[in-house]
Amino acid sequence: MPSRQSPPSRLRTWPVKMIEKPSLINGKGLFAAEPLPARRKIGEFEGEVISQREARRRAKTQRHIAIVEVNNKKAIDAAQQKHGFRFINHSCTPNTFMRIFRERAEFYTLRHIKKGEELTCNYGETHHEGTLRCTCRSQTCRQFL
Ligand SMILES: [Zn+2]
Repeated sequence: MPSRQSPPSRLRTWPVKMIEKPSLINGKGLFAAEPLPARRKIGEFEGEVISQREARRRAKTQRHIAIVEVNNKKAIDAAQQKHGFRFINHSCTPNTFMRIFRERAEFYTLRHIKKGEELTCNYGETHHEGTLRCTCRSQTCRQFL
């Protein structure tokens, strides 16, 4: 029975070793630099905290969008980040998932991930509003983001 108590807000079960490098999916991707067990928290989406309104404005004007809306008021823009989850690519069959918790966006592994595997998550609804072609190569690809 999982505890209903929330974890201490600054409990950090990462860092795990990750590297950014060219991806077969899109641009630069984020890769596991060590084997990762299933269901492990591997980090958070870090960046500038902005209003949802500002997020929508930026999404219209930026070529590379790296924004996660954490609720209907706030969003995190990782465009200025040099490392981390701004590089995680979308896959229709991802190996991690993002969980929004108290205005933060946490990443967990969905299954065991081998060293060298690209980390992916399902972006869900995006600021591209179904206009960006998906290149994840999954057999169950939904085609557009
Ligand atoms: Zn896809």
